[in-house]
Amino acid sequence: MKKASEEIQCLSETPCNGHLQLKNIEHKLNVKGKTITIPDLKVWECNLCGEHFYPYESSEEIDFYKQYSGKIMLRLNPKLHANLVQFAQKDHRSVNQEINYLLKQAIS
Ligand SMILES: [Zn+2]
Repeated sequence: MKKASEEIQCLSETPCNGHLQLKNIEHKLNVKGKTITIPDLKVWECNLCGEHFYPYESSEEIDFYKQYSGKIMLRLNPKLHANLVQFAQKDHRSVNQEINYLLKQAIS
């Protein structure tokens, strides 16, 4: 089999004759004891040892997810909470979906 001319050698500190292939993976990271999943992260993966190396933009994406997990704790007035549940049911959405929908409309 002919090797690609731009084959990148594995960068592992342990000697490895593998080469790196760009892949999209589901990346899990632990932030303050909670697991966060990045669904589609670009990494260089070694075909022999399997070690992952992160392109610059992927490192930036990981930093972004560390800062903004997408999970917030929200306190509501109980009456507003009840209204929100009714609103969500009327629109056939979960409360989480309803909050996302309303916030997107308000912010974007
Ligand atoms: Zn390797």
